[in-house]
Amino acid sequence: MTELVQILRDKRDLPDKGLVELLETDNQSLVEELKECARETAIESFGKEVFLRGLIEWSNVCRNDCLYCGIRCSNANIQRYTLTREQILSCCELAYSSGIRTFVLQGGENPSSAQNLVPVVAEIHASWPDSAITLSLGELPFELYEKLRIAGADRYLLRHETANPVHYAMLHPITMGQGTRLKCLYQLRELCYQTGMGMMVGSPFQKTEYLVEDIRLIQMFRPEMIGIGPFIPHKDTKFADFPAGSAELTMRLYSILRLMLPKANIPSTTALSSVLPDGRIKGILAGANVIMPNFTPPQYRDAYSLYEGKSADPLEEVQKELSAEGYFTRPNRGDYNN
Ligand code: SAM
Repeated sequence: MTELVQILRDKRDLPDKGLVELLETDNQSLVEELKECARETAIESFGKEVFLRGLIEWSNVCRNDCLYCGIRCSNANIQRYTLTREQILSCCELAYSSGIRTFVLQGGENPSSAQNLVPVVAEIHASWPDSAITLSLGELPFELYEKLRIAGADRYLLRHETANPVHYAMLHPITMGQGTRLKCLYQLRELCYQTGMGMMVGSPFQKTEYLVEDIRLIQMFRPEMIGIGPFIPHKDTKFADFPAGSAELTMRLYSILRLMLPKANIPSTTALSSVLPDGRIKGILAGANVIMPNFTPPQYRDAYSLYEGKSADPLEEVQKELSAEGYFTRPNRGDYNN
């Protein structure tokens, strides 16, 4: 085995120079070794089980104006929606009957509507007590994070987007500060949420050194979940003409982070399968261990357009691909278990 991969596996760490080499190398056999080693590490942690999460895109109403995102508040070309309590519960019902034991409620950042989710989260928790609830609702006041946690939410995904403050400022309006996002991550941890962070790969102006900073931030925070996908341009954003991020680089990051944090839950993301037709399974073979089939009512899916050409990751297709590679799923919350 190449020394670089061996050190990363054994020490769970590499100097920056080694990370840059793994991220930038053209040496295909080194990349294959990296992926294989990450795959073996994932199998040591989870066997050949892949955890399923049922994604429910709760609302595309957002107060933020992130320069890369299709649901940014200044985009007047999308129909805004927020699912009702009844719609959310019926999504959960469908997901549960399909064997899903984690519901992920994701949406635009909108604290007043998120407040309305508190009783809904309590109802989901009471109706399906053997299932986990993950939220991804952006930056909210501590008190609201606390209410949602008490209502029964178990996990919270809040990507840090980029660890580099100058890069953060290039991707967001001046009203959004990186400090607030990081503070929220620490608050979520304080409330004992299983916490997720992560970034887009190939976002405009990103450099390899910023990705190394991302890896260091993740390594330091040690999140229970790591969400990473390629940037994909959306026609109604300032970044419409930027190229999509690389699927290959995304998978290298799954592999590197799997070797650093062997027990972390790492999804093979929808964005990856949107840029690479067999990306879902390739992400698993590179060390990811989670897939998130979409349970949003079909009539709202186009309106939750973060980027162009979003894949739905239908459950039957996911299961077929996984079993062809000897992987399996089962009704399982798939909690972080160190
Ligand atoms: N509002 C919540 C938040 O701020 O975390 C959750 C919803 S937000 C739309 C979910 C994630 O979508 C973001 O963290 C971002 O990384 C990703 N995203 C947004 N626009 C994207 C794009 N053009 N390409 C790829 N990912 C994108």
